[in-house]
Amino acid sequence: MEGWKLKEGTISFKQIDDFEVMSLIFRALGPSSARTTSYKFCFFKSLLDNLFNADNRNLSIPFRNIFTTFTSIYYNLIVKWDLFQMSSKNNTVCSIRKIIENFVVEYPQLNGTFIPFESLKSSLQIELINRVQREGMKYVIGAFYGDTNGQIFNFSKKERIVWLNPSAYKTLVRQKNMFEKINYFEWMKFLEKCNENDKLCRLTSKIDESTKRINLTQYRDFLFYSGQHRCAYCGKELSISKTKTPVDHIIPWSFVKDDKLWNLTLSCKSCNSKKSNKLPKNNFIRYAVRRNNIIQQKYKNTNLVKLDFKNYSEDKYKKIYESALLNGFDDEYYICKYNENYLLI
Ligand SMILES: [Zn+2]
Repeated sequence: MEGWKLKEGTISFKQIDDFEVMSLIFRALGPSSARTTSYKFCFFKSLLDNLFNADNRNLSIPFRNIFTTFTSIYYNLIVKWDLFQMSSKNNTVCSIRKIIENFVVEYPQLNGTFIPFESLKSSLQIELINRVQREGMKYVIGAFYGDTNGQIFNFSKKERIVWLNPSAYKTLVRQKNMFEKINYFEWMKFLEKCNENDKLCRLTSKIDESTKRINLTQYRDFLFYSGQHRCAYCGKELSISKTKTPVDHIIPWSFVKDDKLWNLTLSCKSCNSKKSNKLPKNNFIRYAVRRNNIIQQKYKNTNLVKLDFKNYSEDKYKKIYESALLNGFDDEYYICKYNENYLLI
């Protein structure tokens, strides 16, 4: 299907099982479907990274969310790592690389030392996202829709929204880790064809960490000043030197791929590094849910809370925890029995 020409994709969703979803996705990512650029891999990563931001009622995700992630990934891969995203056979660069390169030339403050996308001024971020989204709307969304027979999501360019097929959504969440790895593998194979060897070292980290935020200050400040002064896991008193206090992802970042207040807490350095990629025990999530209820009530007019809790629900958080277990995350991290007192603010 020549999906990229479509203004909207509205094929009725069928109830599809895990194997049908896998087969659609594998085919879309695999070598049998057309790929002159890496757009589809970047798009699929952006979709996976935004799964938990889908609206609770109708599983919609605004283009804006997807293209914010998409732009951040490409900005870091292209400007920081100089990775070509189009087969060198074509002797040209892909249109999104051109957009990003022109942007960097246009704004002299971006020349010289590399500034990660997340650290750009928000006006610059918005400008670049607008440009990339215009191009991505033309060539990326419809193409992926076509490659997956319209059974993973529907979309409308007018409303600038994708709607996920509920049964596909379930599979994507249940098998998130696997889909992510397959996408990385195909993307890496593709990048190996487009780039010289010296650019290809540490390729998984370059892709996987392309959206990792360095600066979580606003979360540290929020949690600290709203009253969390102890490590959520061992209860150790936290230093007032707040830049050194780790902001911990309760369900590991490597699963959620996002920084949202409902999944963040403060911890001491030792717990933060020992916990690393592990999940806390199930009862900790009950405390976290209670803490989140308090935040939502007490700080409902705060922008950060409004924004971060927009698509949050207690049930969803518990399901994300269960999915992380299902995706192979270890839940052996020890927590102190008094820890509810430490987590609550
Ligand atoms: Zn601790």
